[in-house]
Amino acid sequence: MEYLVLARKWRPQTFTEVVGQEHVARTLTNAIRQNRVAHSFIFSGPRGVGKTSMARILAKALNCTTGPTPTPCQKCDNCREITAGTSLDVREIDGASNRGIDEIRELRENVKFSPTSGHYKIYIIDEVHMLTREAFNALLKTLEEPPGHVIFIFATTELHKIPATILSRCQAHDFRMIPLKQITETLREIAKAENIAISDAGLAWIAAAGRGSLRDAQSVFDQAISYAGSEIKDSDVEELLCLTDRRFLFLLSAALLQKQAARCLKIINEGYAAGLDMKHFYQLLLEHFRNLLFIKIVGPDPALFDITGDDLAELQSQAANPSRETLQRLLDILLAEEESMRRTQEPRLHLEATIVRMAHLEELIPLEEILGRMENIERGLQRGITAPTGAAPEGLNPPVKPSPADNTSVALPQTKEDRLEYQASEITPPASNWERYKAAVKKHRRGLASNLDKGNFVSCHEGVLTISFTEGDRFTFEYVREKEHLASLAELARPFFGEDVRLKIEFVKVDTDEQTGKNGSTGKSSQEVRQEALNHPLVQKAFDLFEGAEVRDIIPHKNT
Ligand SMILES: [Zn+2]
Repeated sequence: MEYLVLARKWRPQTFTEVVGQEHVARTLTNAIRQNRVAHSFIFSGPRGVGKTSMARILAKALNCTTGPTPTPCQKCDNCREITAGTSLDVREIDGASNRGIDEIRELRENVKFSPTSGHYKIYIIDEVHMLTREAFNALLKTLEEPPGHVIFIFATTELHKIPATILSRCQAHDFRMIPLKQITETLREIAKAENIAISDAGLAWIAAAGRGSLRDAQSVFDQAISYAGSEIKDSDVEELLCLTDRRFLFLLSAALLQKQAARCLKIINEGYAAGLDMKHFYQLLLEHFRNLLFIKIVGPDPALFDITGDDLAELQSQAANPSRETLQRLLDILLAEEESMRRTQEPRLHLEATIVRMAHLEELIPLEEILGRMENIERGLQRGITAPTGAAPEGLNPPVKPSPADNTSVALPQTKEDRLEYQASEITPPASNWERYKAAVKKHRRGLASNLDKGNFVSCHEGVLTISFTEGDRFTFEYVREKEHLASLAELARPFFGEDVRLKIEFVKVDTDEQTGKNGSTGKSSQEVRQEALNHPLVQKAFDLFEGAEVRDIIPHKNT
């Protein structure tokens, strides 16, 4: 049997079932009861909070053979056709793909005809803000003199893009982000009905991943079910969600508040290796420090924080030591850098610079100590730190290590044991998305998996996942590039690299210079590797510290 995604299976069918939008449901119910239904509506609000569901329920309420009624029977032909999306009287139009004047002209021709079996002809136009200006003008003519049997329901995530002339002719309803608690409760009901075993914490994490959208939370829940089956362990959710975001956030802010700059850099490094989006992470960090400041001022009032209980407790403990002034200053720095963080091409470098500044706030370091640190770094460099290749995140070896005795000192791993201990530290990066993606392909498409295995992850940037194959794998390269194979691979890549991810398959000629052997399987030319290493912030920092320093050799890590 085909698996029906939760959001569709659990789509609300009555006004009372729509989660978090009780205010809209109440107004619509009353209007129907009093027979004062408007002829055009505009539903606005964030994605995935129930706008289209509410529109369909309204359509059903109006066209049910027992209606118009706030409680459609769900049994008559009209109700069933609307639920199934086959009603001839209810047309759903995607504004994003039908945005032109021709589509609206056609619509204007069609509205003249009477409904076939319902009381009304109902047009639901989703993402209506996407219509062109000409299309809006054409639409306006219909809205000015609507035939009595026509109802328009517009839905949009961007109300400000709707012309005022249109707005003034619609009854507007604002849909809200759904509170975490309500999403968690809804997921709990679904889990119960679907016989899914999952802890409260797991549910809360999944709910939080929806960020106010029930649909998004449901789709994460779908992923968790296909990933772990009907018994979902916390560790499954953690792996799937890459709770890295949240985990790194708390780790980083703890280190920051203890002024451990070196540890902060190390955490950022590991976060980067684990695939954190630095710009997104910065936003989370901003929110986190805003929460810390809030908690310092008003205390941990759950009503003020839309976060899980565990997170609230941890926030409270982090906010205990620093003064309000310190928290305020830290938040100020983050706010001041926000705009440039948004624009920068080097988000990681920018994040590091900002964090180091924050960690050194209020801190004056004696000159002797600085000299001592430089000696430490010099010693470390003599022992030869290797530059990361950048292309293989797992290979990244965080080059700095906090010494337990002195929170602020920068010390490089001195011995082999030192480095090992360092790798086994508590924030071992989880398997990268690439590895998990390959595991998922192996699970679902064994044949493709063996081919994909020969490929190398190059990058995932702006929705394009680039995979390279080298000369020896020409056949595999051609095979993977076949349209249907690409489509399957892209489909499976979504949970790991984003909903809209596209695949780019590259063929790399291996160059024959002596670096080749050392490049491992990254498929990068030695020139690229060299450039990447030179751009690394720590290498840059070494240049700053040691005038006239030069890079003699770059030895990339072997991928293991
Ligand atoms: Zn009915």
